[in-house]
Amino acid sequence: MTFHQKDVDVLISEEKLHARIKELGAAITRDYQGKELTLVCVLKGSVFFATDLARAIDLPLTLEFLGVSSYQGGTESTGEVRITTDVSKPMAGKHLLVIEDIIDTGLTMSFLMENLAARHPASLKLCSLLEKPARARTQVNIDYKGFVIDDHFVVGYGLDYGEKYRNINFIGVWKGK
Ligand code: 5GP
Repeated sequence: MTFHQKDVDVLISEEKLHARIKELGAAITRDYQGKELTLVCVLKGSVFFATDLARAIDLPLTLEFLGVSSYQGGTESTGEVRITTDVSKPMAGKHLLVIEDIIDTGLTMSFLMENLAARHPASLKLCSLLEKPARARTQVNIDYKGFVIDDHFVVGYGLDYGEKYRNINFIGVWKGK
């Protein structure tokens, strides 16, 4: 019995995640030929996704990390978005691809994309592993999308509940609520 078996039901298996990430990596490789790509990984949830995706992209690239806080450990958005850790270099003139775990209400990402656009990158696109359209409160354009999911609270593969469950190899529905 694994530690999460009684709290989490599998929604997207490890195999499905990796197959889709390969496809996303191939699409990104095609689209950014001849360009220097910077992946902006949004902490902490997208770390697992970003490191797998980076290895599925056949291009020279650099990695930046950006911390945003929108949830305070529960399952509902507080509506408050703050940058808690900023990138390490100026973003002006760079081809930025933001890597996010999930777009839920869209509030975090619309704040972040506006914030990054104001730094005058050469280009700015978004790659999100998951989208939960049922809860969208603002329109966010996702250039590369892994999976569209129903309105579940999901954990695993980087996504947490109260900082736990990030180290599960699949995306699962959290049943503890
Ligand atoms: P939004 O601003 O789009 O409502 O929320 C974005 C952030 O909320 C995500 O980056 C993620 O940290 C968190 N979030 C939204 N939905 C879920 C979910 O189903 N599970 C987990 N673990 N986090 C979520």
